[in-house]
Amino acid sequence: MKMTETQFNLIKKQLRDLTSRECFYKNKLEGIDIEQIQSQEDFEKLPFTWKGDLRDAYPLGLQAVPDEEIIRIHSSSGTTGTPVIIPYTQQDVDDWAEMFARCYRMAGITNLDRIHITPGYGLWTAGIGFQLGAERMGAMTIPMGPGNTDKQLQMMMDLKSTVLCATSSYALLLAEEIAKRGIADKIHLKKGVIGSERWGEKMRKRIANELGVELYDIYGLTEVYGPGIGMSCEHSCGMHMWDDFIYFEIIDPKTGEPVPDGEIGEIVITTLRKQGAPLIRYRTHDLSRVIPGECPCGSPFPRIDTILGRTDDMVKVKGVNIFPSQIDAMLSAIPGASSEYQFMLDHLNGKDICTLFVELDAGIDREIMEKIIGETFKAKIGIQVNVKPVSIGELPRSEKKSTRVFDNRY
Ligand code: ZN
Repeated sequence: MKMTETQFNLIKKQLRDLTSRECFYKNKLEGIDIEQIQSQEDFEKLPFTWKGDLRDAYPLGLQAVPDEEIIRIHSSSGTTGTPVIIPYTQQDVDDWAEMFARCYRMAGITNLDRIHITPGYGLWTAGIGFQLGAERMGAMTIPMGPGNTDKQLQMMMDLKSTVLCATSSYALLLAEEIAKRGIADKIHLKKGVIGSERWGEKMRKRIANELGVELYDIYGLTEVYGPGIGMSCEHSCGMHMWDDFIYFEIIDPKTGEPVPDGEIGEIVITTLRKQGAPLIRYRTHDLSRVIPGECPCGSPFPRIDTILGRTDDMVKVKGVNIFPSQIDAMLSAIPGASSEYQFMLDHLNGKDICTLFVELDAGIDREIMEKIIGETFKAKIGIQVNVKPVSIGELPRSEKKSTRVFDNRY
């Protein structure tokens, strides 16, 4: 992606500003002469900011303005240790509301809609973000928060909610309950706005069909405002990113170098206007790619693909990056192959060896499938793999996210 002149100027101003007073980035960028940064290429030499840096700044080390300007904090979930605290100024909250309202409009949602919000309210940014954007747009919000399915469905019927905001798993749960209770004719939903976790095509179709809604993907993360920094449009071909508020790069997570447009890599974000806790080159660990060209909707905002996974799931073999969602997609297009697989990497006699165990439907010819899957893998993913077909149920199942990629090389 080419950085625009406006973006460059905003970044430069921000860098000057941050290095001229005591704050997180004054320390982080110590020894770097900001005036030497003359181009996008110079900018791309600046060090990355990692989630670990943000954790080390706990509790308020990221705060970049005086106390009297901070009106709120949010926090990312502390599942892996110390949480990250993000302070917000009034302008940050207003900017977030503006971006979120833009998301709703991108989905054709208006102030006549009734927006049923099921993500949680509180320290994390989900529920309150959906609320802010809807209020900014002037729509009626129904601030449900998660849980209590009986009440959710009652309110949905009585208030004639037209937009459901949810995670994909909660949307599926509600869809199944509506079908089970036979109340589909009392539900008025038209659209669903779904948070940006990785979710398969099959799940998407089920939710859309059972709820009878159009689905939209929304992107965001607590460290960078929250949900609402990007949104898919009616053409469902990726998410438009609000590049007047954030600058994003797609990089090779292993080398840190930018990848060409269209290639998959890690999303790295620089905020352009954020005051409370600005971020420079923040590693999101989310995998996506730039979708080149213009969107049929005509929006000038650049697009990235729906989130394809996390960098932690990715392995590099013979110079090729491989991650689970690619293998998911490849197998789902092969009749007779199930969705269950394990990808093993070993290092033997100086060579990387890849083995793919795949469960096959009963009665399928294993030899033919070995050949088909091997050739498809080579064509789609670009490397040679030994295919080992197994029967349905032979690979381990997990309640949580199953591990599918095993790197035994080191
Ligand atoms: Zn579009």
